Amino acid sequence: MRKTNIKNLSIEELSSELQKLGEQRYRAPQLLKWLYQKATSSFVEMTNIPMELRTLLDERYTITSLQRVESVRSSIDGSQKFLLETGDGSLIEAVLMKARGVQTICISSQVGCPLGCRFCRTGDGGFKRNLESDEILNQVLFFKSRHLERNRRFNIVFMGMGEPFLNLGNIEKSIEILNAIDGFALGQKRITISTIGIPEAILALSETDLKFSLAISLNATTDRVRREIMPEADDIVPTLAAAEEFARARKTIVTLEYVLISGVNEDPADAQRLAGITRGRPFKINIIPFNEWDGCPYKSPTEENLERFLQVLLPKAPTVTVRRSQGGDINAACGQLSLRRASERKRDLS
Ligand code: SAH
Ligand code: SF4
Repeated sequence: MRKTNIKNLSIEELSSELQKLGEQRYRAPQLLKWLYQKATSSFVEMTNIPMELRTLLDERYTITSLQRVESVRSSIDGSQKFLLETGDGSLIEAVLMKARGVQTICISSQVGCPLGCRFCRTGDGGFKRNLESDEILNQVLFFKSRHLERNRRFNIVFMGMGEPFLNLGNIEKSIEILNAIDGFALGQKRITISTIGIPEAILALSETDLKFSLAISLNATTDRVRREIMPEADDIVPTLAAAEEFARARKTIVTLEYVLISGVNEDPADAQRLAGITRGRPFKINIIPFNEWDGCPYKSPTEENLERFLQVLLPKAPTVTVRRSQGGDINAACGQLSLRRASERKRDLS
């Protein structure tokens, strides 16, 4: 009998499978706790479950995990980037950041990304496949069991490889478990999904009761520039209309990410337009100085141009934050390690 991957089951699917095995309702929460709170890797260890059931579960289900291939630590801020291998040998990256006592893990939603934004190393490397929900959750479990400080809260951001909203079903399934009291018990403020901004997906999700915060990679103030650097992105008006609808439906604020690129979107006129687009709307702005990578023609903004941009923006816009380098020297934001290893892999990975 082919075994089922237990971490790919939604909570409802898990409950109904257990009921079919003649189990009571409380078994599903027990199992969720072992899998996600205790990060258990085998059924044998689940000591409050009768031995016969443990054996039966072991015959029917597998408990997957991700293997660490390599890690690098930033000498600037101590953030750590991990290259992880899935069951089929795909490589994905995840990053651990610790700033002012807050632990944040940055995880991937796809192997690569099909959207090909010109400034993004992941986009440059092409696309392999969507991640399954177990592979999304296993990134969190990887950190939880080895690298997070116990009993300290942590945040999750979907800002690694891939476009989460092109993998909607698996994202929804994993958020459900990240939210669940018997799962990771993480609320809206602790999970942020960053997206290129696909209006239909944003609107569909605004109607669910999944708890997460939304960040949209806006990155331009005109459709012409947006399309130049993000060829597959939607126009700004429908994207922001959907983001605003999400914010109103959820009574929250949506973050607009703006990667500032030298000579592309850093003009004072861009800052003016950005202030205009956001004024009076439920948005906050996160400016991210572009992180350079080999082979990409774009350049980071100079400190002077960043200041000039902020001087125009700050008096007119809602809340603005600037993301000072988190792992800039290890390219924590953009898939560099995995792609380098992917080409070396044939030679040196055994
Ligand atoms: N696909 C999603 C999430 C992954 S990208 C999205 O586009 O939002 C996560 C963030 O990294 C995005 O805001 C993206 O604009 C930013 N990013 C990508 N490459 C970058 C680079 N070289 N320097 C700085 N930010 C980058
Ligand atoms: Fe994909 Fe996001 Fe990179 Fe664009 S910025 S290529 S959507 S990962």
